[in-house]
Amino acid sequence: MSKKDYYDILGVSRDASDDDIKKAYRKRAHQHHPDKAGGEEAKFKEVNEAYQVLSHKEKRKQYDAYGHAFEGAGGGAPGGGASSGFQWDFSGGGFNGGEGFSDIFGDFFGFGGRGARRKTNQGEDIQASLTIELEDSAFGREKEISLKRVIACDRCNGSGAEPKSETISCTHCSGTGEVRKQFRTPFGTMAQNTTCTECHGRGKVPKHKCATCGGNGIKHATDTFTVKIPSGIETGEAFGVAGKGNAAPFGGTVGNLYVSVSIAKHPVFTRQGDDLHMKVSVGISQAVFGDKVEVQTLHGAINLKIPAGIQSGTIIRVEGKGMPRRAGYGKGDLLAVVNIHTPTKLTRRQKELLEELKKENL
Ligand SMILES: [Zn+2]
Ligand SMILES: [Zn+2]
Repeated sequence: MSKKDYYDILGVSRDASDDDIKKAYRKRAHQHHPDKAGGEEAKFKEVNEAYQVLSHKEKRKQYDAYGHAFEGAGGGAPGGGASSGFQWDFSGGGFNGGEGFSDIFGDFFGFGGRGARRKTNQGEDIQASLTIELEDSAFGREKEISLKRVIACDRCNGSGAEPKSETISCTHCSGTGEVRKQFRTPFGTMAQNTTCTECHGRGKVPKHKCATCGGNGIKHATDTFTVKIPSGIETGEAFGVAGKGNAAPFGGTVGNLYVSVSIAKHPVFTRQGDDLHMKVSVGISQAVFGDKVEVQTLHGAINLKIPAGIQSGTIIRVEGKGMPRRAGYGKGDLLAVVNIHTPTKLTRRQKELLEELKKENL
């Protein structure tokens, strides 16, 4: 298969609309159709391949981002034939929408660098969300979480075999681990080798299947374990936990867990990046004469110096008493917003004194 640019093959620009692509495809498919006089099978295939990618939003995006690179990323094409790892077979014919294309393309467009051929005995990654306290993030605490996931069967240790059962060659794939599947498409039948669903690519199966899991070595369970919260994590961010995703059949690689974090509202502190904001209330005389006020920070009590003559709304910055900085060492700051408290309940003495002040226009 050609490594020519898909856009060139269809003769459209890189910013062509879906409509333009469809029109260009129809024209060229018609022109090169192998059943037609002057048709050319190789070109027809090329046009179809280009169209299957460019007409699919996600695939087009990936193609724009990686170009043909995906072809070389992983297993690639067996035998170096068709670049996309499947062969065209025009014997079938007839329109039969359905499955086919998306499944096949979904496979060899394996996301990112995973490569053309998806690893078959790999458990899925799973996601969870977790609400934590600000302190959990500040100190990178451990939290217990409980979630449903696929785990290895404990009776057979994930092997799928009854204890002490021997393994035999898989009859479904004759021990090769692969079966050849045919797909009907608008352009004929396509064939692709897929992993055997009986043995999951191993070519071998236990003679006696495990009585607990029925032979696939996995089971659904609620799993409870502790995770370490990355210190400084913010709402909306996620962290990964290796090996806590779904287990794969027959003791394959366990997927990963991704936990997205949301931090509960704190009664005292409001977070802004690495900094924390808090309100500090002072009395009238403290504001006038200045004072030292004990303030509870996340990192213990401190004496906050209130300068004489402070105005309401003034922010006093205390370095290093905020959240741990995610990018590197140290901590953010604590920003204390000073509020001068106007008393509403006064003792007789206080009232007398304030009356005196009033006479002085204070
Ligand atoms: Zn098999
Ligand atoms: Zn089992």
